[in-house]
Amino acid sequence: MGKNLILHKEFGVNPTIPICSFCGEDKNEVVLLGNAYKEEAPMHMQIDNEPCDACKKKLEGNEWKFFIGDCGHQGFVKVKALQELFTEEGLKDLGDHKTFRMEKCFQCMGMV
Ligand SMILES: [Zn+2]
Ligand SMILES: [Zn+2]
Repeated sequence: MGKNLILHKEFGVNPTIPICSFCGEDKNEVVLLGNAYKEEAPMHMQIDNEPCDACKKKLEGNEWKFFIGDCGHQGFVKVKALQELFTEEGLKDLGDHKTFRMEKCFQCMGMV
C-alpha cells in the first residue's frame, strides 16, 4: 500500500488476504496492515477496489461487462448475453463502459 508498515502493538504485522471487490474471491497476495488496522485483521478483507488478476483480464477484454445492481447483486455478464437481453438503444447507452449500474440485476428481473 506504499506506506511504511507500523507494527500493531498486539497483532504485529496484522496480515490479511485481500478480497477482489468484483468477484469476491481471494487475491493471490497477503497484505500486512500493521497498525493501519486498529483491530486484529480478519483472515479476508476487501481493502481496495482493485480487481484481481482474473477480473482484470475480464475487464480488459471486450467479452465481459460488470454490473452493480441496486438490489445488492453484482457480477460479470457476457457482452453476448447483453446483446440478447438489451435493445440496441440500451446497448448504446452502455457504450464502452466496463461497469454499469442496474436497478435490478438480471436475476431479480427474472431474466436468468
Ligand atoms: Zn476478481
Ligand atoms: Zn438482484
